[in-house]
Formats: sequence, C-alpha cells, structure tokens
Amino acid sequence: MNKKETFQVYELILRLAALFYFRCNVCHKKCTTGKYFTIHHIKYMPGEKTYKDFSNRLDYYKYLFPIVAVHPERFALVCNKDHGVVTKLARYKKQIRKRLFKLSNQSAND
Ligand SMILES: [Zn+2]
Repeated sequence: MNKKETFQVYELILRLAALFYFRCNVCHKKCTTGKYFTIHHIKYMPGEKTYKDFSNRLDYYKYLFPIVAVHPERFALVCNKDHGVVTKLARYKKQIRKRLFKLSNQSAND
C-alpha cells in the first residue's frame, strides 16, 4: 500500500472510532488519527470475510466499514499494542487463558 492508501485506512478507522467514543476498549488511549489503532472483530458471522481474504488493509477496511457501522457491538476499537495481546490470548483454550490471567495477576507490580 502506498502512503495515500495507508492514510485512507487511518481515515476509515477514525470515522469508525466515533462509534467507540474514540477510545481503546482496553487501555482507553484516545484515538485521534486512526494510526496505531485497529477495529477488532469480536465475532465472525457465517460467510463473513476476514482480513486474510484481502491483499491489503484498505480493501479489508472498505469491506468492513458498512458492517461495523451497522453492527458496532460485534467489534471493538483497540490500539495495536492491545490488539496483539487480545488476538494472541484468544488463541489459547479457556482453561489455559485462566491460568495465564492468574499467573500474570500474581506477577504484576500493582
Ligand atoms: Zn489500548
């Protein structure tokens, strides 16, 4: 993707961010430009495409935009940092996730 297309992606994310009060669902960081943020797909409906079905991020967001606009409850605005953690954790089975949460809570300094 060239610079113009990358900017178009940020613009689409920013427009959709309004549905989520411009805040990351996890850390509440403010989304001001669309950069460093993503629209996380919580649940896929049967037959719905994923980002893997597209050759670039702009085509994916053009496809996603009207779906998010109609069903924002199936999505979340998250910063890229937290999105990486969420998608990684989601790959674990429930019992393992529980143990990971327990151990990380025990290890935290707060
Ligand atoms: Zn965040």
